[in-house]
Amino acid sequence: MAGPVRPIFPFTALVGQERMKLGLLLNAVNPKIGGVLVRGEKGTAKSTAARALAALLPEEATVLNCRFGCDPNRQSSWCDECYARSSSGRMQTYTRHVPLVELPVSATEDRVVGTLDIEHAVKQGERRFEPGVLASANRGILYVDEVNLLSDHLVDVLLDAAAMGVNYVEREGISFSHPAEFILIGTMNPEEGELRPQLLDRFALTVEVEGIPEPRLRAEVVRRRAAFELDPTQFNVLWGETEEEERARLVKARELLPDVTMPEVMLDLITRICSDLEVDGLRADIVMYKTAMTHAAYRGRVTVTPEDIRVAAMLALPHRRRRQPFDDASGDPGELERRIQAQVSRSEAEAAEGEATPTPEPSSMADEDKAGQGDAPRVDQPGATFSR
Ligand SMILES: [Zn+2]
Repeated sequence: MAGPVRPIFPFTALVGQERMKLGLLLNAVNPKIGGVLVRGEKGTAKSTAARALAALLPEEATVLNCRFGCDPNRQSSWCDECYARSSSGRMQTYTRHVPLVELPVSATEDRVVGTLDIEHAVKQGERRFEPGVLASANRGILYVDEVNLLSDHLVDVLLDAAAMGVNYVEREGISFSHPAEFILIGTMNPEEGELRPQLLDRFALTVEVEGIPEPRLRAEVVRRRAAFELDPTQFNVLWGETEEEERARLVKARELLPDVTMPEVMLDLITRICSDLEVDGLRADIVMYKTAMTHAAYRGRVTVTPEDIRVAAMLALPHRRRRQPFDDASGDPGELERRIQAQVSRSEAEAAEGEATPTPEPSSMADEDKAGQGDAPRVDQPGATFSR
């Protein structure tokens, strides 16, 4: 149950696909960004990347025998059963690999959210809950291949849980809830049908998986793939240090995130870009805010810079631009990039002019928490492997 049973291709050995890797890593630093939709043809490295990300993430301390894999160090996120365990002094912990749960396209709603035994509740007066996919995905990665082929209703349920970090089930007046904080990775092949714009908008980030045109890079893909297939264990040993460095960087970014601040001019830049590109609603602005903060932390900084905003815009906006009736559905990424860059340059020019103007108090992740966005993720140091 705990961890990879077969050798996984190392994340840091993936060639190219920089934007996809960055989108995944930022969600790993801060799952509250709200997931990433990976678009691309079949047979691209989408599922390899999701598996590789799970293996890259640091192991996590977990309550032993908890059906929801609660975090022993974060009492506020416990399930009812863990509260009972703790108060009776029976809580034991262990360290596990971050779970990767794949959702089959054929999954029913019951399979996803779990089931409440109504008969048992009525006869025995106690709630009996059979956990579903969302329970297994808590504190892990939920991978949904071909998310565009799921029913709209199910996608809605997934996105709701991802946004709230809680799975709430109600049947005939009886309810049950449990923690369901997960990194949502959806993939889709646009040739097989688009997601409805309303659902598209609720995926925080989108990345396009591109082909690798450069012969030199293609050769590198082939070389690494062949070496991995020849001796996966040895390949993982070779890449062990690089993986460890990236893991340490993630851990540091999680620690840094609560200290990151967003200068007022940078928030200005976000809203200007969103307004210039005529995105509907405010979700894009909010996602860009969180993504820029997280990118700053990932780069080891505590202040958001125009570069963080530019990266956040390229991840958060491609799927949110208002479409004209006869627009090419894919849009022109080059044009998007140019318009974002134009706003960034303008903001930098203004900053250079107005050096003498006093800057107002920066807002921070802490302020965001007070506004009810929930706590920023912290690294929970796993203790000994078994604490019994
Ligand atoms: Zn629990």
